[in-house]
Amino acid sequence: MNSSSAPRLIQDLDPATGELIDSVPCAGEDEVRAAVARARAAQPSWAAVPIEERAAALERFGAALGKDAGALGQTLTAEMGKTLKSAVGEVRGYASGVEGDAEQVVAALRPIEYDTKGQHVTTVYEPLGVVAAITPWNFPVGMPLSILVPALVAGNSVVFKPSEHTPLVGRRLAELLQAELPDGVLELVQGDGETGAALVEADVDMIGFVGSRATGQAIMKAAAGSLKRLVLELGGKDPMVVFADADLNAAAKSAAENSLRNTGQVCCSVERVYVAEAIADAFEAKVLEYAREWTHGDGREDGVKMGPLVSERQRAVVAAQVDRAREEGAIVRLGGVTPEGRGWFYPATVLTGVQQSHAITHAETFGPVVAITRFSGEEDEAVRLANDTVYGLGANVWTGDPARGARVAARLRAGQVGVNRYLGGAPGTPWVGARQSGYGHLGGPDGHRQFTVPKTISIAR
Ligand code: NAD
Repeated sequence: MNSSSAPRLIQDLDPATGELIDSVPCAGEDEVRAAVARARAAQPSWAAVPIEERAAALERFGAALGKDAGALGQTLTAEMGKTLKSAVGEVRGYASGVEGDAEQVVAALRPIEYDTKGQHVTTVYEPLGVVAAITPWNFPVGMPLSILVPALVAGNSVVFKPSEHTPLVGRRLAELLQAELPDGVLELVQGDGETGAALVEADVDMIGFVGSRATGQAIMKAAAGSLKRLVLELGGKDPMVVFADADLNAAAKSAAENSLRNTGQVCCSVERVYVAEAIADAFEAKVLEYAREWTHGDGREDGVKMGPLVSERQRAVVAAQVDRAREEGAIVRLGGVTPEGRGWFYPATVLTGVQQSHAITHAETFGPVVAITRFSGEEDEAVRLANDTVYGLGANVWTGDPARGARVAARLRAGQVGVNRYLGGAPGTPWVGARQSGYGHLGGPDGHRQFTVPKTISIAR
């Protein structure tokens, strides 16, 4: 790493126009180490603050964040492209969740006390020390908060590295948090993967990471030497299974919406649709109808449903996957052509005739593509095809038979499964990836406890 002379710069570009918003210096190794040292120095006093007061500080932050939703939403759309409505919705939604999340952390970390066989036993949940939070750009408010809230309420200090695509959203989050916290409890370092790697190597006790599987693997390797605690929330290739007895209209609408929203840049997007042969023609026609509604354009303009992809590189990945699927025999029924002109737009794309052997069935697309594969309609085949992936984040099953819905949901390897709805996630439940979609998890009592080390003290009586 170049830790001398001029720092590397993040070129923060507006993906709808390609214009430069800002140049943000990347923290070098020395700055990362200094931030970690400040966080380490501040942590013991923060841990000494009663947990209810720590939670109250986070709740004040949540309220301030909610008030900032309009302005921060504008910044979010400018940096990563999502529509202004969804950007403001993301800020408001996650801001309003902070209070409940902080209360859940307090509840999850209540000491356990009991008397048994001549001893008094107490288990307390002690903070780990310094947590590194390394996060992506697709939900640049929501993903950081999923780490920052439990880590801070638990009594850790945090060094936060936002994505290089959303440094200004990251800076604003840090400012609002720092306004409620003692100096050093929340440190911000800006930068790209090189800065992230330096943070992983630094003297932190835990890495809370949300991002791609490849980066998760690199972090796990780098953390092995010091056996740092890890929570890794990674990518997905979520299947949606539509049986012949499903509510065809509702399933088709969900397939289009949940493949295309956020321009497909959602970890738990529907990435593969398996439809029973018997209803496939009608289902595909309905999906096309709904997908046509997903117009793309500058996320600040009224009526636009999808903004651009976050970067030229991300668009090239999506376009290459669609081109390869076409070469392998899939039929492009909608979209599939990179538009001319400025901005990294890609249209809503529907592929039919996708086969299990096609490359697009296995690599995360992270773009606005509905990829449809037909299957016999048999449960066993549906489960085999859906589970044929290294990932296991989410899955969705659509059927008119509740018993079948329950049976298939139980057999799918995924952290959350929706039956006749998109995903199964509900407030207060863990967010977790099976297989290579994650390691550890966030949310729910056990997720909150991952930011601590349980310590048991037994006193003879
Ligand atoms: P990414 O892995 O490229 O980057 C994520 C973060 O890691 C960024 O801050 C980046 O600077 C940093 N980073 C990159 N290389 C690093 C390294 N070697 N060491 C340490 N840090 C490093 O991912 P992305 O493109 O920002 O986000 C998209 C991915 O995130 C998709 O795969 C998506 O599925 C996943 N994601 C998962 C969840 C979930 O909850 N499971 C949620 C959102 C996004």
